[in-house]
Formats: sequence, C-alpha cells, structure tokens
Amino acid sequence: MLLLAILSWSVLLKARLVPEQPEEKSDNGGIPLSAVEYGAALACIFAGCWEYMKGCKDLRSAIPFFRGTNVHFIIMSVLQKIEQQSKDGKVWWSFEYFPPRTAQGLQNLLDRIERMRALGPEFIDITWNAGGRTSELTSEMVKTCQSLIGIETCMHLTCTNMPKEKVDIALREAKQHGCRNVLALRGDPPAGKEEWEAVEGGFVHGIDLVKHIRKNYGDYFDIAIAGFPQHMLLPKEELEQEMNWLKEKIDAGCNFIFTQMFYDVEIFIKWVHCVREHGITIPIVPGIAPIQTWNGFMRATSLAKTIIPQSFLDVLEPVKNDDEQVRKLGTKLVAEMCRRILAEPLGIRGLHFYTMNLEKGTKMLLEELNLVPRVETIKPLPWRQSLTPSRRSETIRPIFWANRTKSYLSRTENWDEYPNGRFGDSRSPAYGELDGYGVWIKQTKEDALKLWGEPKTFTDIASLFSRFCTRDLAALPWSDQKPSSETTVISKQLAQMNELGFLTINSQPAVNGARSDDKIFGWGPANGYIYQKAYLEFFVSPSLLDLLIPHIERDSNITYYVINKQGDLRTNTHSDGPNAVTWGVFPGKEIIQPTIVEALSFMAWKDEAYELGVQWANMYDADSPSRKLISDLMENSLLVNVVHNDFHDTEAIFKPFLKAGAEFLAKSKPIVNGH
Ligand SMILES: Cc1cc2nc3c(=O)[nH]c(=O)nc-3n(C[C@H](O)[C@H](O)[C@H](O)COP(=O)(O)OP(=O)(O)OC[C@H]3O[C@@H](n4cnc5c(N)ncnc54)[C@H](O)[C@@H]3O)c2cc1C
Repeated sequence: MLLLAILSWSVLLKARLVPEQPEEKSDNGGIPLSAVEYGAALACIFAGCWEYMKGCKDLRSAIPFFRGTNVHFIIMSVLQKIEQQSKDGKVWWSFEYFPPRTAQGLQNLLDRIERMRALGPEFIDITWNAGGRTSELTSEMVKTCQSLIGIETCMHLTCTNMPKEKVDIALREAKQHGCRNVLALRGDPPAGKEEWEAVEGGFVHGIDLVKHIRKNYGDYFDIAIAGFPQHMLLPKEELEQEMNWLKEKIDAGCNFIFTQMFYDVEIFIKWVHCVREHGITIPIVPGIAPIQTWNGFMRATSLAKTIIPQSFLDVLEPVKNDDEQVRKLGTKLVAEMCRRILAEPLGIRGLHFYTMNLEKGTKMLLEELNLVPRVETIKPLPWRQSLTPSRRSETIRPIFWANRTKSYLSRTENWDEYPNGRFGDSRSPAYGELDGYGVWIKQTKEDALKLWGEPKTFTDIASLFSRFCTRDLAALPWSDQKPSSETTVISKQLAQMNELGFLTINSQPAVNGARSDDKIFGWGPANGYIYQKAYLEFFVSPSLLDLLIPHIERDSNITYYVINKQGDLRTNTHSDGPNAVTWGVFPGKEIIQPTIVEALSFMAWKDEAYELGVQWANMYDADSPSRKLISDLMENSLLVNVVHNDFHDTEAIFKPFLKAGAEFLAKSKPIVNGH
C-alpha cells in the first residue's frame, strides 16, 4: 500500500517539479516541458535554494544542497524506501504495537521495539486507545520511536472522546517529532460502552478526521484508513454502501488502506477485487496476525468477529493444549496465507504484522516466509539516526558518543545546524556545559553493585573492563549495553590491553572494504563497500602513557589526542579538522563519511567521560576503598584516543600497546615482588 502511495507521491512531485527530487526529473527526461513549465520549475528550484540558504549560517554549509545526492540518499523516507523495494521486486513488512498499561511494560516494549528493528520492518505503527488512559502514551511512544529508536512511525488517531482541540494537539505533536503517517479512524467505543457516540465538538466518522487533517495539515501527513475484508459477507446493498463510503474517504485524500486481521484468504482476495472495481486504486496492506497461543487466537478472533476457516481449526484444535505446537502449526498456516496473497495478481508487496507486542510469533512467521531484512533498512548509517525533523539530514557524528546515543542527542538537541556529511561542515556548534544535560550512569546503585561489585585494586578494575570486552559483563559506566558485534572481532586484543592497564571505553576495528550487506560491518545501500580506521579510546596512568607515546610516534600512521581532566590537550595531528574514521562507497553516490574523530568534540566528550567515572565512584560509601580507588583513577588518569590511519593493517594499532605494556610490567615486577 505504501508502495503505491510512494509512486503517486513521486508522480505528484514530478508533476509539480518540487526541487527536493532533482534526480527524479532526470529520470523523467522523456516528458517534454513547455517554456512556461520550465520557467516555473526553475523558479521553484531557485525559491527552494533561496529558502535553504537563508536558513544556513554560511554559504559553505549550503553547498550540499547543490550537490545534494549525499544527504538525499541517507534520508530516504519510508515511501521512497518502499518504492525502491518495489523497483527491486522485494517484499516489505511493518509491525503494529499498542501502548502498554504500566511504566515497566512501556520500558520493556520500547526495548522490544528496538530489538525487533533488527527484523527489518520498514516502519511501525502505534495504536490509539479509544479515549482511554493510554491515549497520551501513543504520542509519547511515537516521539521515542521517531527520535531515539530512529524508526519511521505511523500514529493511529481516533475520534472517540476526542474534541477537535485534542485531535490537533496529537497531530501537532506528531508533526513536531517528525512523524509523517497517520492512520485516521473513527475508533472503537470507549471501554464499557457498546455503542459509539460522538463527543461535543468532535467528529462523527473516520472521513471527518481525514478531511480535517487534509484541510489543516495539507500534504504533510500520509493518511492511512481501515479496511474490512469481511464486509464481503454483508448483504449486497450494504456492501455497496460500505464501498461508496470507502471511496468517499479515498477521495477526501487518503493514501493507503490497512486491513483488519483476517484468516480467510478467499474473502480477502474477493474484497480486494471489489475495492478495485469501485475505482479505488491506493495501496492495500493486509493485516496479518501471527497465531501465538490457542487462547489468544480465540480471544482475538472472537473480539473482532473474525471468520476462522475450517482448515485452520482442523489443524489447531487437536493441539490446543500445547502452545508450542499451536504457534508452530499456526505459523505455517498464516505463512501459507501470506504466500498466497503475495502470489495473487493483486499488486500487494507489503504485509502488516499485528505483533500484539510479542516478538516470537512475528519472528517465526518472517523466518517461515524466508523474509530476511535488508541491512539498508536496519542500518542506513552505522549509528542510529534520529528522525525528528531537524535531525533527519544529520549524516555525521563524532565517534565518542558511539555507546551513548541518548546523551549525544540531548547534548546537541538545540543545535540549529547538524554536520551534514562534509569534512568542512562538521565543525561542531558548542556542546554547551555539561550541567543541565543530565549525563547519568543508567544503572541504579543496586544494579551497579551487582554488576561491578566493590573493586579494591587497580587489577579489579582492569578485570571489569577486560570482562566487558569479552562480553562477560553486560555494561560499564561508559556503555549501557554489551559491546557491538564488531567489537567481538578485536575482543581478545582489547581484553589484553585492559589487563596491561589501558582501560578501554570505545573502539572499532579496521575494515578494508567489507560489503555493505556484511552482517557485522555492513550499513547503507546495497552493493556498497565499507571502510574503517582502527580506533581506540581509553583511560591510562601518566607513567604508562609515557611508555606508550614513543612507540606510537614510531608509527607515522597513528594520530592521537591525549587530554586530562582539566582539559589540557596534547596531539600529534597537524590540523584540528575532523578525521573520517568510517566511510562507505556506494554505486552512483558520493562517498559517505558518517563517523569522525576531531578535537573540539573530544574536548566536549572528555567532561562526560570523566563525569561518568566520578558518578561511578560516588555510588560507593564516602570512605570506602572503592570510592577512593575510582575517584583517584578519574583524578589522575588521562583520556586518550588513537586512530591508526592505515586501514589495511588490522593489527598495527595494537602493537605499541603490547610493547609499552610489556615494558611497564617488566618495570613494575620487582615492586610487586617486594624488591
Ligand atoms: C487497521 C486497523 C487499525 C485500528 N486501530 C484502532 C486503534 O488504534 N484504536 C481504536 O480505537 N480502534 C482501532 N481500530 C478499530 C476501528 O476504529 C473500528 O473498527 C471503527 O469502528 C471503524 O473505524 P473507521 O475509521 O473505519 O470508521 P468509519 O469510517 O467512521 O466507519 C464506522 C461506521 O460508520 C459507517 N460509515 C462510514 N462512513 C460513513 C459516512 N460517510 N456516513 C455514514 N456512515 C458511515 C460505516 O458503515 C461503519 O459502520 C482499527 C481498525 C483497523 C482495521
């Protein structure tokens, strides 16, 4: 459904010659333009450029607009992505979630949505509770999914118990957070009521909401509406009436139809034909509900009065007491239904999964259907993009916050300009003072004690860092989650470094042309190649650093920055400009360089890095050995980052550390032995 919407949108764009789509026009080279159309197009482009440049601080930062392709490809919208997949003849899918009732449930669900992102949904949608207490949660979830999880989100919005003002608050907030898709519905009756009633100053039917959105928000939102395949079971006149109402909604400006869940594929196919016969051409996305348990299946089908084909009952009823069997056989039945839908000449390439906030059923179904996510969908860039309006075009970030996305987003949220992929433009605006940004260790005191115990010696600390690198420890104060999969490639070397006294808090291995669909290193469009320079960041004592620097300086491929808590910076680089440490080469595109190391950002990050250590120390009692040990460590250690600029040599970055570490051990041995 989204696919056809994309097509119509792009046709509209072409017809209007909107300047954001320069390459679309060149594809369209066969359509002759009159002089007037040409003039209008140029005027349009000129106006667009002028508006853009007015918003730019200087001309240099406006340049990408003219070169364009770099930014354009990274911020492909859902619609553009789906169009691309359709061009490639690929099937796509999306997931529906509902707001949970408790705060803990919400946190769990957000974690799950983040995890399920790896299953490759093109977008997700969040239901709207019919005027109940979780309505506001929908807006909150839309915001989190767009900005933090970085996944394109569609917001359901209903008329139940919603005066116009409330509708507008929800729409305004959605827009503010970059959400561009709304599923406009009349809504179910509120809990406890049988009949649906309009509220004073509210809407009566779904169509009223559609008209309101179009009138007040123009083309900003893509609007989806509900479709009901079981209308095919209505008497002929009633079916005709429903089709006419559906057509009216489409004429009022809808872009897609999501259907109610169904299990009788014959009814669905007949309904699609009937819809098409009524002149409705917008995309239809079938709602697919995985079968998770017998009770859940019976409850959902009876609530929605869904017809269950006898063939489903024949298979599932005999095993109804065995949930595992129900899920296994149910997955096969639903997968067969999906295959049939995709095989029929209905033009349907997208499937919308009702996840019921569960992971397993959807995952099993995707596996059964052999639907493998594209790396490009999951990882358009190596780091998680934020889809709020101001950040959509952000294509470059310093490496320092790689494990602390939330903090980076909050520290930079008031920037009026984000670095946009060019070396010259990555000069960072001020990161501001640390105060007020709420830089906190995620763990509570209790969690911290469980995780990190009560270290009493430097060796205890080094062992924690080392265990983190081998994924034996779930988190460190500088990283809320286990190391990324690429770290496993160098985990042994990192563990060794930590044991030698270099306390690593961030790293990446060198990569020399991994394919962009590589499971570990891949990101960005298909058929590209990924490159990385080896990077290490660590705390170290001044004496160990003194041994390290001469070894580092013997390798002319290494650049480094050293900083202390007070902010004294030392480096062997000859420019304070950025050093791109990750870049990708893709067919027909400019080179994308999304991760950099640079002095200015490192200095801002330094405050946060030391602050996290101080907070860790403060979790222990004031006069405890652990507090003293960690406080001293933060007071005296230096923070260092090292880049090995020869990305062909994956091991070279570690050599100076091994040598310096060995020297240090040799020197300190007599002391350890008491001589
Ligand atoms: C994909 C999907 C997602 C859903 N998500 C939610 C959700 O998040 N929250 C929620 O509360 N509910 C949700 N629902 C349920 C939905 O709100 C109800 O099924 C509702 O009764 C129908 O919504 P509608 O927008 O189609 O209503 P409408 O289009 O208003 O239709 C409702 C009734 O009015 C009649 N009608 C339609 N147009 C006219 C007209 N112009 N004049 C006179 N009569 C008319 C129709 O026959 C129909 O019986 C969802 C349903 C689907 C299929």
